[in-house]
Amino acid sequence: MNAPVPSSEPQVMQTYGRLPIALSHGKGCWVWDTNGRRYLDGLGGIAVNTLGHAHPKLVPALQEQIARLIHTSNYYLVPLQQQLAAKLCEISGLANVFFCNSGLEANEAALKIARKFGHDRGNSSPEVMVFEGAFHGRSIATLSATANPKIHAGFGPLVPGFVRVPLNDIAAVEAALKAHPNITAIFLETIQGEGGVNPARIEFLQALRRVCDQHDLLLMLDEVQCGIGRTGKWFAHQWAGIQPDVMPLAKGLGSGVPIGAVVCGPRAAHVMQPGNHGTTFGGNPLAMRAGVETLTIMVEEGLLANAAQVGAELKAALQQGLAGEIASGGVVEVRGQGLMLGIELDRPAGALLAQAAEAGLMISVTADRVIRLVPALILSSDEAAQIAAILVPLVKAFLAQPKP
Ligand SMILES: *Cc1c(COP(=O)(O)O)cnc(C)c1O
Repeated sequence: MNAPVPSSEPQVMQTYGRLPIALSHGKGCWVWDTNGRRYLDGLGGIAVNTLGHAHPKLVPALQEQIARLIHTSNYYLVPLQQQLAAKLCEISGLANVFFCNSGLEANEAALKIARKFGHDRGNSSPEVMVFEGAFHGRSIATLSATANPKIHAGFGPLVPGFVRVPLNDIAAVEAALKAHPNITAIFLETIQGEGGVNPARIEFLQALRRVCDQHDLLLMLDEVQCGIGRTGKWFAHQWAGIQPDVMPLAKGLGSGVPIGAVVCGPRAAHVMQPGNHGTTFGGNPLAMRAGVETLTIMVEEGLLANAAQVGAELKAALQQGLAGEIASGGVVEVRGQGLMLGIELDRPAGALLAQAAEAGLMISVTADRVIRLVPALILSSDEAAQIAAILVPLVKAFLAQPKP
């Protein structure tokens, strides 16, 4: 039996390790707590708040939408679904979209598409290739696709039908395909988020595209975290000049309103037929309006270019500020693209979360040793400089302590 976890919120199930800071309101890349303390938001609600907080164009649009219609059900047409789907197809070059409510739901739908794609070809036990370091969500199927044993612990038996290989190793991919002829799809994050900001290399992505074409497999790129402009292109795979067959999206698409989407290319677009899949909330008018407004405002404000430029400035400031620590090995690497950056340390870095908050900065620490920055795409050059000005001395002081 597990004892209750002591908490100031005894009726909230304690599934998160939370800092004892209660947040009250935000504006742009700044958030205030209930004591009136201000924080610079380097976390963006975990890559969710694309437009920052209380965006002056998003707020009135959502207020108008809430007063008009929040939810109706999928028994009727929701014109905003077609509007958002058309925009997503335009920016991705893909063919159609299924709407849901979160990242794991988008991945769950992608996995169902992969299985049905197999069944449609007479393969009654289709398998999906997944990767070391992967994170795809916390449902039973998506945690099974996830690599982290800490996320599996206590929830077995895992869903069968996943074959795991190392990232960026095309020989391992080809060997796995030979050993597992039932594989119908290759499923990966274009840039791993929770796994520590680990990019799939451009040549690797291009090789996977060729392999999938050659073997009639679906290339499924989880862009739940790295998509929607975060890297400076609409989607991270566009840096490799390839297209996926299936692309789950979520986090940044609704600027904080829960939303998920699976964008499919022609080979995957008609796998699902009426009755095969659905969700009550998926595609509701409020979420669709949030998606449409997010993409529209991103274009109006040039946020792809901003993410690329301010992200490069932030990365350079961190690399410069931590040059000594990089040379000595305390900082293993500063990596990532656009406004999805990771600073890998040579030791567990979880303690930095509270220290950063104390210094007025919100960050996250993932994969134990990687400080992750995924701020709003409206971040200014000045705010990027402020993030570096707070974070660099913190990391220096942290690494100056004896290594545990
Ligand atoms: C966050 C995340 C998920 C899960 O999304 P939820 O909305 O938390 O279910 C899946 N894949 C990736 C790459 C993510 O970053």
